[in-house]
Amino acid sequence: MPVTIKSAREIELMRAAGKILGKVHQDLGKELKPGMTTLEIDRIGEEMIRSYGCIPSFKNYHGFPASVCVSINNEVVHGIPSDRRFLQDGDIVSLDIGVNYKGYHSDAARTHGVGAISEAAYKLALRTRECFFAGMRYATAGCHLHQISAAIHQCAEHYKYGVVRDLVGHGIGSRLHEEPEVPNFRKFGRGIRLRAGMTLAVEPMINEGTGNVEWLDNQWTVVTQDHKLSAHYENTILITKGAPEILSITDDEILEGIWTPGGTA
Ligand code: MG
Repeated sequence: MPVTIKSAREIELMRAAGKILGKVHQDLGKELKPGMTTLEIDRIGEEMIRSYGCIPSFKNYHGFPASVCVSINNEVVHGIPSDRRFLQDGDIVSLDIGVNYKGYHSDAARTHGVGAISEAAYKLALRTRECFFAGMRYATAGCHLHQISAAIHQCAEHYKYGVVRDLVGHGIGSRLHEEPEVPNFRKFGRGIRLRAGMTLAVEPMINEGTGNVEWLDNQWTVVTQDHKLSAHYENTILITKGAPEILSITDDEILEGIWTPGGTA
């Protein structure tokens, strides 16, 4: 499958999907509190997604049983919501959500703290976001895909964190996972040349310790091999001739100063 270049109409739909997803993340993040179950998070998240006329992209995707992936502490991604899993004060929780709006997907992840979290946990989440934005400097037409990957890797290395290699970002559009794969680590070769109209889900998964991961017996949930913490930050982006358009970020997040739209690439 070739890498797709989206038409103006498709870009409009992906903008709409991203805007909804950003809002869902923002609102769902505010719901997290100690004592709630991860299944409750999923239920509230699914309700929000459907209230915007969207379909949860993950539900039943290859058999995944929920709308929101809820991954706690040493869980990297694909945590399965459960009525027996309770959030505790001091946890970090990664929420990964996909929405399908009129046939177009948006995919994004955020790591939140529950109650009072350790300084180490706070820094890991913040710096994982920083790794994403380090990659954005090269997410522009004319650059090569692996420049994004190398910039993410370099940022993680700077903090002596481990980068997960077993899972990668991806192209996205009318299918949740499209070409190309978007690694979060240096790769041999430059990768494809980026072109305006490509849409990518860039998603660093950064570990406090080793980047090595294992799969739990449920066949889904990925955990750190050394049981240390992991954080996840993801957005769906549009490649343009200038700075990328980050489709799944909210205006509030932009106001926080974490991203300047149209800033120099
Ligand atoms: Mg993704």
